Amino acid sequence: MSRILAKSIAVTVLALLASLAISFTFVPMLGGEVSGAGLVMTIVCPIAVALPASTLHYWQSERLRRANGALMAANDKLEEAYRQLHSQSRLDALTGVLNRHAFAQELQAVSEAAASGGLLFIDLDHFKSINDRFGHATGDEALRAIGQLLTGHVRATDIVGRLGGEEFGIFLHSVTAEHMLDRSHRIREAVRSLDFRTPAGAQVALGASIGAFHCPAGFDPSQALAAADGNLYRAKSTGRNTVIA
Ligand code: GH3
Ligand code: MG
Ligand code: MG
Repeated sequence: MSRILAKSIAVTVLALLASLAISFTFVPMLGGEVSGAGLVMTIVCPIAVALPASTLHYWQSERLRRANGALMAANDKLEEAYRQLHSQSRLDALTGVLNRHAFAQELQAVSEAAASGGLLFIDLDHFKSINDRFGHATGDEALRAIGQLLTGHVRATDIVGRLGGEEFGIFLHSVTAEHMLDRSHRIREAVRSLDFRTPAGAQVALGASIGAFHCPAGFDPSQALAAADGNLYRAKSTGRNTVIA
């Protein structure tokens, strides 16, 4: 408020000086003299007009500035909420890895960037029997643990997603076919040796079959997924807990 008043007084002083300058310049030119009531009006008029007018102007400007600030803060919050919502909408709620749609989008982006790498289609073995023996809640926990395990086995440039039920996909960025096979086996072994237990402490053995496909630069994501799926089918046929590339 004191800032508004200071600025209004400054404007009023300028208006007063302008009024005096005009009066003392033009009144003598018109044959008159600035004195008495004329001088009083020369002083009072600019004060009576400029002080309330400039106070109102600066007060409204201040209100506008504050409203604008609040609007910008609300806009920042909204943008942040949108960003969070957008990133959450790309994640699988149970496991925290990408959902199928986001995984497909990332794979498409990798393909468009002309990158190569290894695509792994991972399916947990006999998962239905884990649900049957230990209950769905334990099954859910197992899926969550697998999501964490897979995330821990990839680099920041790789992609991990849950493609559905007990199926996961991984894209290993820029690896050779040999490196892809080596990493696939390490993931399979890590699932196999995961110390996963029910809340009661019973150990639950998990296993995974992996269909791997090496994607050359410019690969077609649908064809690559179909090829990895074909290899997964063969991995299941050969007895599970194995990798086929
Ligand atoms: P296979 O070795 O041939 O892959 O056998 P499987 O039992 O893993 O495969 P199947 O396709 O017969 O069963 C998949 C199971 O995964 C059945 C389903 O109840 C379970 N499943 C899928 N999604 C979820 C989930 O979100 N939570 C839990 N707990 N189980 C799930
Ligand atoms: Mg399956
Ligand atoms: Mg399965």
